[in-house]
Amino acid sequence: MKKNEHFIVRIEDMSEDGAGVGKTDGFIWFIKDTVIGDTVEASAMKTKKSYGYARLVKVLKPSPDRVDPRCPVARQCGGCQLQMMDYKAQLKFKERKVYNHLKRIGGLSGLSLPGDSEPGNAGQESGGLGSATTGIRMESIMGMEDPWRYRNKAQFPFGLSKDGRIIAGFYAGRTHDIVECEDCLLGVEENRLILEIVKGFMERRKIAPYDEKTGRGLVRHCLIRKGFATGELMVCLVVNGDVLPHSGELVEELLEIPGMTSISLNVNKERTNVILGKEIINLYGPGYITDFIGNVKYRISPLSFYQVNPAQTVKLYGKALEYADLTGEETVWDLYCGIGTISLFLAQKAKRVFGVEIVPEAIEDARENARINGIENAQFFVGKAEEVLPREYEANRIYADVIVVDPPRKGCDSVCLDTIVKMGPKRVVYVSCDSATLARDVKYLGERGYEVRRVGCCDMFGGSGHCESVVKLERSRNKIF
Ligand code: SAH
Repeated sequence: MKKNEHFIVRIEDMSEDGAGVGKTDGFIWFIKDTVIGDTVEASAMKTKKSYGYARLVKVLKPSPDRVDPRCPVARQCGGCQLQMMDYKAQLKFKERKVYNHLKRIGGLSGLSLPGDSEPGNAGQESGGLGSATTGIRMESIMGMEDPWRYRNKAQFPFGLSKDGRIIAGFYAGRTHDIVECEDCLLGVEENRLILEIVKGFMERRKIAPYDEKTGRGLVRHCLIRKGFATGELMVCLVVNGDVLPHSGELVEELLEIPGMTSISLNVNKERTNVILGKEIINLYGPGYITDFIGNVKYRISPLSFYQVNPAQTVKLYGKALEYADLTGEETVWDLYCGIGTISLFLAQKAKRVFGVEIVPEAIEDARENARINGIENAQFFVGKAEEVLPREYEANRIYADVIVVDPPRKGCDSVCLDTIVKMGPKRVVYVSCDSATLARDVKYLGERGYEVRRVGCCDMFGGSGHCESVVKLERSRNKIF
């Protein structure tokens, strides 16, 4: 098929990243913005030997799962790949994604989906190292009642429109073109007010937005966070310089928004698509906001990682805590601990908890969080999990009954996994935002004596194709190494 040629196809499946998949004469097409069950007219874009990409031209017969996206820029914006899919169908898609990864990459042949009547190979050995798990049924995905306005954090890039106006929005899928959107329906309503103030200030004071192509211009991004439990707001402007002229004026205007607690600059002068630089210049307030997850209070600085969906985080951590199966006697390690969110949740039920995290500011927050909650049995280390854990193991023969890991998308480093295996905790609880790397690491641990006992997932990112999952692994009695 030639470029721009039109054809009709029925969508039968969905790819990892939420594009619809259909076939014409055995040739596979990936078509964004389509839903399983749609019959569509599409236009060929790029073709390879056995597959190609096409653009949706028209939905000829909509799938029963198709809904009208609420957001006017749902198609252009790169954020929500699944907004045109009914929320219940989104949840099923995510469950299946985690399941497929654990089966195909993780080798868990005995795993079955929550709705299946027969747990796969129940009670039988499924054979082979790394696939020792038998008869495990995934737990139903934990979804939201109302999957809108759930995000407590947004990062809006600034740019210029074709007619020279300052705009803020999101990057269009796979590009760095800015789609103008100041009221993302996943984010808080204050985002719009804040952006209006920042843009007005820039126009008035002739402060240019940053231009990625030339490296010129000052204002790159606006990071906004809100503590849902406290109502506290944080604004951090990422700038390509060391000062923001007339910043006092901006601070004054922003302070008119109720809840405004922390205003700062982040210096990023690099020609990079990494959003945040390392340096923070405080303009107003204590340099952080606070929030609660469950009964634990957290202090959150601009550079620290904090889960974006607080309503679902409490469910996810509840599941991690359940899988950790603590009696109060355990020594627990929480690797990739951020500001100590999971650590402090666990500390209430464990003898002691050690957290490890690479970002020094996050560890400062973690220590402060332990202090403000009166938690005395948690201790934190700055560094890479794959360096701190082996070092502490070699030097101090550290011990763990339970190890919890919650790595970024790329998963755990093999040195980290090897050290976990050497330490030999009874249980490993693996929290993951990328089930493909989770499955890879589960296989690795499986080949070294850890069996999967439970699998759960939680929808933290409604509208997008991402899914959070959590797995409980136990050291099998006949440990191999
Ligand atoms: N458990 C925390 C954070 C999870 S996000 C929570 O639920 O809030 C992953 C965290 O891992 C981030 O804070 C990131 O800074 C940190 N990180 C990334 N690579 C790391 C590494 N190699 N060693 C330790 N921490 C790392």
